[in-house]
Amino acid sequence: MVDLALDAGHGGIDPGVVGPTGLMEKECNLYIAKKCEEILKNQGVTVKQIREDDNFLNLSERVQIANDAKAKYFFSIHVNSADVDTAHGTEAYVLAKGGEGEKLAREVLDHVVEATGLADRGVKFANFVVLRDTDMPAVLLEVCFISNSAEESLLRDDDFKDKISLAICKGFLNYIGKPYKNSVNAQPINTLTPIILKPSALKDQVKQWAKNNNATPTFISLADLYWDLYSSHGEVNPVVAYAQAALETGYGKFGGKIDEGYKNPCGLKTSTARDDSPSAHIKFNTWEDGISAHLDHLALYAGASGYPKGHTKDSRHFPYLLGKVKYVEELSGNWAPAQDYGVRVLKLMFDIQETIIKENFESSTNAAGSNVNNSLVGKDGSNTDDGNNVVDIKSNLDKISNGIESLKSHYGNVYSSIDELEKFISEKDIQITKLINENSELQSKIIIYEEVIENILNIISQRIKK
Ligand SMILES: [Zn+2]
Repeated sequence: MVDLALDAGHGGIDPGVVGPTGLMEKECNLYIAKKCEEILKNQGVTVKQIREDDNFLNLSERVQIANDAKAKYFFSIHVNSADVDTAHGTEAYVLAKGGEGEKLAREVLDHVVEATGLADRGVKFANFVVLRDTDMPAVLLEVCFISNSAEESLLRDDDFKDKISLAICKGFLNYIGKPYKNSVNAQPINTLTPIILKPSALKDQVKQWAKNNNATPTFISLADLYWDLYSSHGEVNPVVAYAQAALETGYGKFGGKIDEGYKNPCGLKTSTARDDSPSAHIKFNTWEDGISAHLDHLALYAGASGYPKGHTKDSRHFPYLLGKVKYVEELSGNWAPAQDYGVRVLKLMFDIQETIIKENFESSTNAAGSNVNNSLVGKDGSNTDDGNNVVDIKSNLDKISNGIESLKSHYGNVYSSIDELEKFISEKDIQITKLINENSELQSKIIIYEEVIENILNIISQRIKK
């Protein structure tokens, strides 16, 4: 008898669904199932892991293992996919309305949605084998859409998968009446991404990233102002603000309600704005003003110390906003109505962190003493002043070699999945040939039987005539 059977969907020759850059569902499923097992064991819950590694089990074998273990509950972990790349969010399936499964699924989904900021697609009903044939209340979770490149890149991030796993466990533990305890044995798990944090990437990294995404030259140079200003504006992580500005302005191309002339990188409105017209938006005199307002607005939301400020360029510096949004994930529904707004900013931040610097970027501003200069080469081209540049070069080299390592492992994965697919196809070929042979045997038997029946009918009709 165990408390929970965990079923990592797919495996072995069956990769499950595959994302646009080749991430395989089976890997994500196994990672999350294993992480859940680790968390739950630390909470004193007994777990039966149905698929321990990358092997293939059919659906009835999975059901059998759970039933044999007399598990009290059953979770099957999957990742979703759709033909349209805009589909996103998380959902759960249970067999029927009104059962224990539905309540359990709702509890787990609530936790996942709250912890990740993913869209809630609700509890659905389906006659899946693993839901129908299991003896215990069973839930099949579809976390994220691997077909959506933003969510695929989140799924590549172990911190993100840890977050999902912890949320699943918290939901389950709540349901069985043993709420999650921060035990000393439990590994600390990073849950949400704070807005106030030291810069999570190098300035040249965000410039390279902006350039890779065809940002305008003006937008690329705004990174200097974000880096010069963040420390005097609530210590907001400038990467959060810059990623958000990229999202709001289309990497400086604007093309929405306002144009570049507004020098308003985050679409900030006037204090009395009632609609979304251009005149409802603030027009700043300088980029420094526009960026200061952006950082002050984020710092206010994040509850930075010294906020709300007496003097600010932020036109909507309303005291009631103080501390309302401490984490990037919570920007959804607060800064913008879209339910995936925070996740989209987060996705850009992950992309920035993975960017490898290939070019030298000049700083367009150089506020004296305001900041560390992250350029590879100082303004005058010297690298002898204080050793900072050597440190930067070393950390950039480390990043490059990390990048090469991850590319290598990526290609390794691609090759091994091609091998597996070829194996899978050749096995299918063998099965098809077998089926064709069996079919022709059956055909010839049918002919023989038809002849026999004809003979019998002939005999009968002759007898009747007699
Ligand atoms: Zn699946």
